[in-house]
Amino acid sequence: MLPALTSLIALQDVSARAEDARRRIAEAPGRIQALDQQLAGALLALDTAKATLTESLTARRGLEGENGVAQQKVSKYKDQLMEAKDNRQFHALQHEIATFGAEVQRIEGLIIEKMVEGDELTAKVKAAETALTNDKKSVAAQKSAIEADVTTLKTSLDSLSAERTRIAATVPAPILTMFETYFRARKNVALSKVVDGLCEACRVRVRPHLYNQVRAGDQIIQCESCQRILYWVPPPPKTDEPAPADAPAAPTAT
Ligand SMILES: [Zn+2]
Repeated sequence: MLPALTSLIALQDVSARAEDARRRIAEAPGRIQALDQQLAGALLALDTAKATLTESLTARRGLEGENGVAQQKVSKYKDQLMEAKDNRQFHALQHEIATFGAEVQRIEGLIIEKMVEGDELTAKVKAAETALTNDKKSVAAQKSAIEADVTTLKTSLDSLSAERTRIAATVPAPILTMFETYFRARKNVALSKVVDGLCEACRVRVRPHLYNQVRAGDQIIQCESCQRILYWVPPPPKTDEPAPADAPAAPTAT
């Protein structure tokens, strides 16, 4: 095989791995931001639960105040009842006592509702606190993992870049330019293996005369459909069972 073609196969592999590392490094801030948003959401849920509880307790205190006023009125009218001067005044006072007695009962009913509500809201605050504590732990662990990942990826990217430079130096300039052009234009895949007479990347059949040239491997041949640089890997040595002429052999990524 043309030495430049051998180099391009290695270059494709190293370049694709470097691009993958770059992509994952670039995605890290977004992933960290999403985790921060998750935490902010849990914090907001806790604040909202606390505010709802405070509101409920304030309303309950208001009702307790109203109840005190109504009870005082009942007591006041009961005292006055003892000193009623006539029947008319006695009945009027009895009416007031009944009215405010009913009011006390109504407010007490509402206070009980608020007490039940307070229990429920307190449970919600506790649940939100637990959720926040768990989220904090989980987010911290995930952030550490992402940061460690980025450190590893950066180290790996450094060595991949050095390796890429070393290989690129062995490829003639026009071929390297061609490779780089199609690497960018074809989703980081500039090379394609020919398998069973098809370009493995675009699945279009390679015409017989080109196929023979690709098999010869002594010049740069591009796929007529996707323009990727084509190469062919000879089938593995024959075993007892006859292997198909074009059996895929090399694990090279395409
Ligand atoms: Zn193709």
